[in-house]
Amino acid sequence: MSAAIYIHIPFCIKKCNYCDFSSIVFNEPVKDRYLKALMREIEMASFAGKVETVYIGGGTPSLLTPSEVEKIINKLEQKFHLLHGAEVTLEVNPGTIDLPKIRELRNTGINRLSIGIQSMNPMELRFLGRVHDETDSQNALKWISRYFDNFSVDIMYGIPGQDLEGLRDNLKQVLGYNPPHISAYELSVEKGTPLSCMLAEGKITLSTDDDKIAMYELIADLLKAKGYLHYEISNYSRKDYHCKHNMNYWMRGEYLGFGASAHALIRETRLRNTPDITDYIRLMEEEGRAVVEETALTDLDRVNEEVFLRLRTDRGINTDTISAAPELFHLLEQEGLILKKNGWIRLTEKGMLLSNRVIVEILDSIEKTTDISTQNRR
Ligand code: SF4
Repeated sequence: MSAAIYIHIPFCIKKCNYCDFSSIVFNEPVKDRYLKALMREIEMASFAGKVETVYIGGGTPSLLTPSEVEKIINKLEQKFHLLHGAEVTLEVNPGTIDLPKIRELRNTGINRLSIGIQSMNPMELRFLGRVHDETDSQNALKWISRYFDNFSVDIMYGIPGQDLEGLRDNLKQVLGYNPPHISAYELSVEKGTPLSCMLAEGKITLSTDDDKIAMYELIADLLKAKGYLHYEISNYSRKDYHCKHNMNYWMRGEYLGFGASAHALIRETRLRNTPDITDYIRLMEEEGRAVVEETALTDLDRVNEEVFLRLRTDRGINTDTISAAPELFHLLEQEGLILKKNGWIRLTEKGMLLSNRVIVEILDSIEKTTDISTQNRR
């Protein structure tokens, strides 16, 4: 299996109210030092395998100039064996791109854009603390759909004040640009964000679980009716337009990560870089390495990860490779949560909705079965 490369660009115009990603407000001198550190990290890496996808995420990578993006891609091409036709994605945010920039990006080696639209509703965008408004979103979608054949749109649901009609309207507007790929994420409240303070101070009320379920079902029904494949819990695509980069994560393929907070999975070892941007630059300048965590995975870790990751997708898992109790699969199938076929199981639409519960039950069963077989060997 080929590998993937993730590059983290941790700069944004301002922090959104819900964001706990590793990102800081854009600053030109810090960005310049960061890019030098990033180039050094790429230069020092060693990986002989083939690379099938590159994903430049953030943060807001579209704050870089096209020539900075091109330098990163050129460096990767010099250093690694990027396959011909590799999927090369750049995350972009409305309000940070214009028509000339989108045209120029086509000449940098980028062949897929992922746009953080989140909502087409001005009040929802203000609530989220996004820098763009609905006109920026419309322009970004219009330009990108004209110049890129392959692009993805992120939308969010469960935003306080959002109802089913509002969500339907967001989806309808986005669908007007015929995106080949849509990711739909539930708004989550992360510790230390302005959103969590608003919640603690009683200034906002979150959507109820029933509301969120209804929204999830509305998205799945509407997109499937429009011909999209629901190929992962939060992801929908036209045929052959699934995100190959993310599919590699879910299939537990190897990947390299460069930049602050970037992760990697190489030869059954997980590595993580420091998430602190100043620390990352210092470590790269002084020590030439920014890894702060390195974990060699056990066989049980690997199996657990396979269940946790692969089961998110419509490919599912091969039951021969895991040791969960067969009765559990029978029960889950009777409840309409999984489908069993030729030794494989995968989540049904209802199972995707209740994926946390299904996955926890399977992982518990694997742990118990493993305990029993370990005891039997003693
Ligand atoms: S644009 Fe993305 S990374 Fe930047 S602050 Fe907003 S949510 Fe976070």
